[in-house]
Amino acid sequence: MKPVLLIHGGAWAIPGGELEPHRVGVEKVLASGYAVLAKDGSALDAVEHAVTLFENDPAFNAGTGGVLTSEGRVQMDALIMDGARMLAGGVACVEHLKNPIQAARLVLEQSRHCYFVGQGAEAFAHEHGMPLIDNAELVTERERARLREAQEREKAGLPDNSFTNDMPPQFRDPRIARGYIPDPLDSHDTVGAVAMDAEGRLATATSTGGTPNKVPGRVGDSSLIGCGGYADNQSAAVSLTGWGEPIMKLVLAKWAADRVEAGSAPQDAAQAAIRHLAERLGGYGGLILVGPDGRWGIAHNTPHMAWGVCDAGGPRIGTEFPG
Ligand code: ASP
Repeated sequence: MKPVLLIHGGAWAIPGGELEPHRVGVEKVLASGYAVLAKDGSALDAVEHAVTLFENDPAFNAGTGGVLTSEGRVQMDALIMDGARMLAGGVACVEHLKNPIQAARLVLEQSRHCYFVGQGAEAFAHEHGMPLIDNAELVTERERARLREAQEREKAGLPDNSFTNDMPPQFRDPRIARGYIPDPLDSHDTVGAVAMDAEGRLATATSTGGTPNKVPGRVGDSSLIGCGGYADNQSAAVSLTGWGEPIMKLVLAKWAADRVEAGSAPQDAAQAAIRHLAERLGGYGGLILVGPDGRWGIAHNTPHMAWGVCDAGGPRIGTEFPG
């Protein structure tokens, strides 16, 4: 089977000046992630590798460069899932790990549990060989400025624009949301990858700094099994990004995977999931998915979503889908 890799770098209104770093970022991650599959690496290794690279790229809201909590710290969540063995590993609210997705992989491989939070997650990762770092190493000046602006807006009683649900009414219809004029606060830069390897195994990985100015301890959809990600060889591998609270309530990754299992084409399932998110809860976001036969789908109702796909047709990338 010809392997397939899909990646995303977050669904949101990417400000003009940040479009190019996003394109460059997805291009690099796609090439390096696909090289793992091309050398007969597993889908699980490929998605972990791709998300690690995203976490190390400060252009994206995961690992270094993650958005800040209301207290000015980077607090991260990540999930990895192996659809062949039905194993999952998740961490949430970690602050001292450079690569939360690697901690999630350790949980998947080495623990009898499948989800750790906060200090327990960090202690587990450290016991299994990961160094603990100072949170300040993950903080960028861009995110300090973004937080200052968010807190000034909050103080002035202005609505939180982070989730694009405060779009002007004429843009609330997701079918025309792409016309929305980006607000720099609309930050939805979570990263994710889904893959099918040469042996037909599916895997997913998702990692995030969460949402800007979040209350410390808040966990979004990204690291929750079935919400921000899901993988089962019998259905699909899925990774989501966007406004986490509605996505969680709809358990949307599993919802989309179930549609594929029931016979929907992956692209139809991806579009249906995003329609469901918008119609049921007024949510905004995006997803990537790949089915057990290697067919895939991409959909989003935010103005942008950095995406990349590589399959028998070669590599393609964009900041809107379809471009
Ligand atoms: N889904 C993430 C969260 O709510 C945010 C994002 O995708 O940017 O934590």
